[in-house]
Amino acid sequence: MPHDPYRALYLHLPFCVRRCGYCDFATSAVPADAPEIDAYVEDLCLQIRRKAKEGELGALETVYLGGGTPSHIGLARLSMLLYTLSLSMHLTPEVECTMEANPESLTERMVRDAWALGVNRLSIGVQSFDDEVLAVLGRAHSADDARRAIEAAHTRFENVSVDLMCGIPGQGAESFEASVREAAALGAAHVSVYPLTIEAHTPFDAAVLAGDMEEPDDDVEAAHMEIAACVLAEAGYERYEVASYARPGFECRHNIAYWTGVPYLGLGRSAATMTQNAERRMRVQDGRVTDDMDARGMAAEDLMLGMRMTCGVPDELVEAAAVLLPDAPAVLAELEGEGLVAHADGRWRPTDRGWLCGNELYGRLFDLA
Ligand code: SF4
Repeated sequence: MPHDPYRALYLHLPFCVRRCGYCDFATSAVPADAPEIDAYVEDLCLQIRRKAKEGELGALETVYLGGGTPSHIGLARLSMLLYTLSLSMHLTPEVECTMEANPESLTERMVRDAWALGVNRLSIGVQSFDDEVLAVLGRAHSADDARRAIEAAHTRFENVSVDLMCGIPGQGAESFEASVREAAALGAAHVSVYPLTIEAHTPFDAAVLAGDMEEPDDDVEAAHMEIAACVLAEAGYERYEVASYARPGFECRHNIAYWTGVPYLGLGRSAATMTQNAERRMRVQDGRVTDDMDARGMAAEDLMLGMRMTCGVPDELVEAAAVLLPDAPAVLAELEGEGLVAHADGRWRPTDRGWLCGNELYGRLFDLA
């Protein structure tokens, strides 16, 4: 279909040194020297060149190399990929280009080369600075590896993000708080905090079913999220999304694109693409249509996604949505009455309670369509 230009590009690198016990991402444990990775990266480069030729990469504002573990594919393949990218689009410093990395495979050399080839943001999968917690998760790195990786990242990058997890069995509030404090003390510009979820068909799922592992407790996770909010606010970070904190100016523009209805192109195994025009929004993954919405569905989804962000949605967006979804203002007023959203300064914003009861909040808005 004729569509608006893609403004975000996601490249999926589905390889890891080993599988973590909780992971249900599209990734597999493959040795770093496996020919399978060469073939995959070569194919990804071909796809990038093809999309460039088709004129699909001309309006990109953000690029995200995610996984899997992009740093696991090694310097030579990463260089080929980034070089291909720089020949295929305007990879200027204004384009936010993020690469995910894990501490066990991020080297200082890789940091320097990735930076020289146009990456300007590194997102490091730390999860915790507590070795016992890392062992429970089945991570391939230690807390010291994470400290070294962040230090290496800072040899070139100002924009370094650290991912942390909470609600992990055996992780007390003190351990979690110490990790959050350490991420801030190490100078992360951005911190993401995700509660552990037990996904079907993972080793953690099997352990919970067998009674060998406690299921994460919602109240504990909520308490941990609260700790992160307090510690990071004190340290000068802004919570701009339910799970994301940034020092001013270091918000992740690529993730914001996902939450604000910006069309994105995904290349690589299981990468999702969102294509849209004024009347229709489609998501496609591995050649399969996963979403196909009309303008009503798009309007409802934009309201729902906007509520993930601290800034919520402006009145103009609600007014435009109300043309297609006449119940939207009444539902927002109802949600306000229940303390899930608040209205001020021309915007509807989620409250802390709204985020805690996220399923209720997002569900009610999505159901408008
Ligand atoms: S490193 Fe990340 S993508 Fe790889 S197995 Fe662990 S959680 Fe999954």
